[in-house]
Amino acid sequence: SSSRRGARMSNVTVCVRFRPLSHKERKANADNVCFRKLDSESFVFKDEREDDVVFSFDKVFYEDAQQSDVYNFLAVPIVSDAINGINGTIITYGQTGAGKTYSMEGPSILHCNEQKTGLVQRVVDELFICLRSSAGTWTVKLSMVEIYLEKVRDLLDLSKDNLQIKESKTQGIYIAGATEISILNSSDALENLSQGIANRAVGETQMNLASSRSHCLYIFSVQHGSTSDERVKMGKIILVDLAGSEKVEKTGAEGRVLDEAKTINKSLSALGNVINALTTGKQNHVPFRDSKLTRILQDALGGNSRAALLCCCSPSPSNAPESLSTLRFGTRTKLI
Ligand code: ADP
Ligand code: MG
Repeated sequence: SSSRRGARMSNVTVCVRFRPLSHKERKANADNVCFRKLDSESFVFKDEREDDVVFSFDKVFYEDAQQSDVYNFLAVPIVSDAINGINGTIITYGQTGAGKTYSMEGPSILHCNEQKTGLVQRVVDELFICLRSSAGTWTVKLSMVEIYLEKVRDLLDLSKDNLQIKESKTQGIYIAGATEISILNSSDALENLSQGIANRAVGETQMNLASSRSHCLYIFSVQHGSTSDERVKMGKIILVDLAGSEKVEKTGAEGRVLDEAKTINKSLSALGNVINALTTGKQNHVPFRDSKLTRILQDALGGNSRAALLCCCSPSPSNAPESLSTLRFGTRTKLI
């Protein structure tokens, strides 16, 4: 409705993406899906255990949506703002297997055709196109970190496994000691990104972890001095591939599994609360300090910034309860 649109004055875009059914899902439930499409912004969600619910978002990407569709809608404005000194965040949320990493990295960050290229590489490509076509000087730096059990690990240097978050007048919020690599072009970026992704896998094997239980952050810091304006503009773009939002069985989970679940749950609710506070105008009570994730995102979400949340869902009726919980998270971030 128009009144609801009117309330959406914030700079947070909330979108949903239903990936295609997997072979396994198709085998179990044929072509059945848990939603009925209404239009490009809304659908009826069907779960046999609950009443049908209509959901509306800024945009809904159905199974046939291309990576470029997602990129064009939610990332293009963020890139063009970053070179003008406005911070931006793109976050993928959803249960494990819902398509978060596919949306960010494509099927593989190094080996994928142009059509399947994910958000991270598209952001990088566009960033360099924008910077090269602008008069003036620029630098782009890349950091990559992982947050696991509230510890921040440097994915560009695995020896740094407990980085601290600090704040300064000149830099704003920053991760002290995190490796920052100057990148000059797309292939340079890609090489370092894939190194970070490979390091993440190495760390996981060493510690016997699953990547679905940690948050992965790709951080691009852009400095841009235009000729028409004396001031050097600093903008950050942070892409966040969140830990899986699925609930663990309350009974049975113990030890590390339970710790992981509690920590993930805490940081995801902190994220939801922060976005909600920002979008509903409760700007003086934003609980950034409730988790490492929200603390790192503080100046990329608050203040002069733009953010996009992509809620990733399986289309399968078998995953309906988790999809419903993801959709509710997306809705909660926007409304009181
Ligand atoms: P998550 O990161 O949320 O755990 P993934 O991105 O790894 O989930 O996706 C799970 C599986 O589904 C992967 O095999 C991935 O290639 C596939 N997949 C996800 N989204 C899409 C999509 N839009 N199109 C085709 N395959 C997809
Ligand atoms: Mg993943």
